Amino acid sequence: MKTKPKGGTRPCRLHKPFIRRRSMVVFMDIQKYKVTGERKFDLKSFDTKPPSSFNPEDTQSIMARNTAELSELQSKLYAQGKSGLLIIFQAMDAAGKDGAIKHVMSGINPQGVHVHSFKQPSPKELSHDYLWRAVKKLPERGKIAIFNRSYYEDVLVVKVHKLYEKLNIAERCKAEDTIEKRYRQIKNFEEYLWENGIVTVKIFLHLSKETQRKRFLKRIDEKDKNWKFSDADLRERGYWDDYQEAYQSAIEATAAEKSPWYIVPADKKPYTRAVISEILLDVMKELNPAYPSITSEQEDSLAEAKKKLMKG
Ligand code: ATP
Ligand code: MG
Repeated sequence: MKTKPKGGTRPCRLHKPFIRRRSMVVFMDIQKYKVTGERKFDLKSFDTKPPSSFNPEDTQSIMARNTAELSELQSKLYAQGKSGLLIIFQAMDAAGKDGAIKHVMSGINPQGVHVHSFKQPSPKELSHDYLWRAVKKLPERGKIAIFNRSYYEDVLVVKVHKLYEKLNIAERCKAEDTIEKRYRQIKNFEEYLWENGIVTVKIFLHLSKETQRKRFLKRIDEKDKNWKFSDADLRERGYWDDYQEAYQSAIEATAAEKSPWYIVPADKKPYTRAVISEILLDVMKELNPAYPSITSEQEDSLAEAKKKLMKG
C-alpha cells in the first residue's frame, strides 16, 4: 500500500483543486506505528493522538474502501486454507478494544473468523500452563482469530501484581525472572506459529491517562454506559505507570519482523478504527492469498457438469 509520511490527502501533482477533490484518496502512514524489534523501542515516543492532518470525516471512506478489499482477500484466504491469521488486541481499560473489534468484524465473513475474550483465568485454566487456553483458540489455516486480550496478560497484569508468585507450581519453576522467561517463551511460540502457517499481529491501543479519565467519567455519567464501568477499572488505573512499564518491556521483548506490534493512537476512536483497518489490509495483502487453481481434470469435470445442467 502506498503511504504518505504524515497521513492526510494525496498531494495533487496538477495543482488543480477539482482534480484533487475528485481523486480524493486518503493515505495513512501505518508504518510509523509498526514495531519489529529492529530498533530501540520507547513507548513514550508514540502518539496517543491522531496527526493534526487527519480529518475524522475521512474515516468512513477509508473504512468502506478497505472493507471491500479485505472481504475479497479474506474469501481467498478461506478458500486457499493455507495461512491462518491471529490478531491480538491489548490495551488499558476504555481504550476501545470492543468497538475496534466490532468495526474490524463488520467487513469480514463471520464464517472465517472468531473472536475470543480472555478474562481472569478459571481454576482449571490456572492448573494448566498459561498458553494452554490460548492454544485452544488458535485459528486453523484459512481462518482469522481475534483475541480480545491474550496470553500477553500473563506478562502484563501478572507482572504488575506479581500473580506468578501465587501459582501452585513446582519449586523449580518459581523464579524471580518468570516474566523474562515468558517473553522468551512467547517469542518462540509466535515463531512456532509462523513456521506452521499462522501469522500473528499484535495491536496495542495506546491511550492517554487523561482520555481514560474522561471515558470513565462518561461511563459513570451516562446511564446506558454504567454497565461498562467497574470498581476494578479504577483500581487498575491506580497502577497506570506500572502497566505502561509492563507494556514497554513486553512489546520490546516480543516485537519481531514476523510478529510485529502496532502501537495505535487510541485517543480518537475514528482514527483508531481507520488505522486498524489499514493494518489488517496491509497484513492480508502481505499474505497474498489466492483462490486455489484447478487441475485440468477438474476443469473437464466442470465442463461436463455445465453441459448436463444446460440441458435442463
Ligand atoms: P471490558 O471491560 O471492555 O468489558 P475487559 O477485557 O477489560 O473488557 P473485563 O472482564 O473487564 O474485560 O476484564 C478482564 C480482566 O481479566 C482484565 O482485568 C485482565 O487483566 C484480566 N485477565 C486476563 N487474563 C488474565 C490472566 N492471565 N491473569 C490475570 N488476569 C487476567
Ligand atoms: Mg474491563
